[in-house]
Amino acid sequence: MPTVMKEDYYEILGVSRTSSQTEIKSAFRRAAMKCHPDLHPGDKQAEEQFKKVNEAFSILSDPQKKQMYDQYGHDGVNMGAGGFGGFNASGFGDVGDIFSSVFGDIFGGGFGSARGGKPRARRGEDLKSDVDITLEEAFDGLEKEISYTRVDRCSVCGGSGAEEGSSTKTCRSCNGSGTVVYQQGFFSMRQTCPDCGGKGTVVEKPCKKCRGSGVERVKEKITVKIPSGVRSGITLRISNGGDIGQNGGGYGDLYVEVHVKNHKIFERDGDDLILDGYITYPQAVLGGSIKVPTIEGKEIEVTIPKGTQFGEVLKMQGCGMPKLGKKGFGDLLIRVQIEVPKKPTARQKELLEELAKETGGKKSFFEKLFEK
Ligand SMILES: [Zn+2]
Ligand SMILES: [Zn+2]
Repeated sequence: MPTVMKEDYYEILGVSRTSSQTEIKSAFRRAAMKCHPDLHPGDKQAEEQFKKVNEAFSILSDPQKKQMYDQYGHDGVNMGAGGFGGFNASGFGDVGDIFSSVFGDIFGGGFGSARGGKPRARRGEDLKSDVDITLEEAFDGLEKEISYTRVDRCSVCGGSGAEEGSSTKTCRSCNGSGTVVYQQGFFSMRQTCPDCGGKGTVVEKPCKKCRGSGVERVKEKITVKIPSGVRSGITLRISNGGDIGQNGGGYGDLYVEVHVKNHKIFERDGDDLILDGYITYPQAVLGGSIKVPTIEGKEIEVTIPKGTQFGEVLKMQGCGMPKLGKKGFGDLLIRVQIEVPKKPTARQKELLEELAKETGGKKSFFEKLFEK
């Protein structure tokens, strides 16, 4: 027999030689989870690794075999199939049994377990919905009603899938276990029964409304509480607002994404609001004050300092959006724009021409603007 270099069983499971059975068991779970063929369908390497992991565990979990392995290495456990409780290189005993004894309920009935039993509960799908609100609504926060559709228990049969008066019977394909066995390479795997979908039962006369599925699409209306200061892109999770699960697996969640519509006059930058504030040229030069609106619908007076430049930003602290989930507000930023009259009066023109002369003969912005 050719000698093949075999990997150390302790290394395969990632445990030390002094590990306890509990440590070996949990190391096996971790290692097997990483390469379980159900999680890596078609992956030859994972399958190979899974084989090694099982082999290592079948030795190290058995005190007698472990002792032989510790003393004599791989030769110790390969000395003869008969000597070690039937372990041999061509088949790994009943891997399903190792699995069910170690994993127990971790995988539930449908996955890797040889016990069958209850069909696997599956949580319902999560759903997504969108809601559009105005900037004013985002400022105040609000309760908004949203309509959407989801899969829920059938309103006629109440989820049984059976027509009124008819009963359910045990599924013949799986004898009520909800799972069927199939062979994959070395392992016998269990799969959800395709005939009953894992329920273990089938209905005699299916409900007409849901055709036996026990579920239907229903229209829902819920009221969502949108917090003040909310921004576009923020998603609110409505627990159990999604589709109903299978086999008692509970509802998924509903995710509501908030979109804040653009505002006619306010731009938003985080918690700050930006507004164009129009002042006249004399106000820019001499200073003064203007009134600007706030998002709350109020009006505030803003002082224009002397010599204010076009594009300068005046900050009104605390007049912006409320901070989401925090105290306080952002700022209102007033971007100064200089109003240029398109049709100046004769008097204005006269004065501006005077002003133009004062600017030292250079053609000013205003001169260029008004000459024809
Ligand atoms: Zn129904
Ligand atoms: Zn079945």
